[in-house]
Amino acid sequence: MNDCIFCKIVAKEIPATIIYEDDEVLAFMDIGPIIKGHALVIPKKHYDPITETPDEILAQLHITAKKIASAQLNAFGADGVNIMQNNGKASGQEVEHIHVHVIPRFNNDGHHWNWNAKKYDDIDEMNELAEKLREQL
Ligand code: 5GP
Ligand code: ZN
Repeated sequence: MNDCIFCKIVAKEIPATIIYEDDEVLAFMDIGPIIKGHALVIPKKHYDPITETPDEILAQLHITAKKIASAQLNAFGADGVNIMQNNGKASGQEVEHIHVHVIPRFNNDGHHWNWNAKKYDDIDEMNELAEKLREQL
């Protein structure tokens, strides 16, 4: 993918602060951290979105995210870690090369997700949505 910024990072055409690398994946510091120490894990090969990414690659991405989460807990004394992965513009995705965010969290770090929980109109509405999902699974 010629115009993909993360493929350019893999190809070392643009710089990144790499923290981990193996045959399949690369992890580097996010230039716009939600919390300082925020890292990204990407496959070296271009895939997007999650539904087009092979299961083995997804496993590698998440195994690496776990390693980085441990490193953030140990190295920074983080109190928690958010692991996030966005798919599609509607979800907030900006870079269309699959990536897993690994974000260290600290008690009282001042960051709040805008997690605005809604309510179903009634139990039937939730059950109808559940049935549509079951039909696809
Ligand atoms: P998304 O919104 O697509 O899930 O997240 C994309 C992330 O990539 C953002 O957190 C953004 O700060 C980060 N990012 C975008 N461009 C670059 C870049 O050139 N280098 C690095 N290190 N991070 C980037
Ligand atoms: Zn790419």
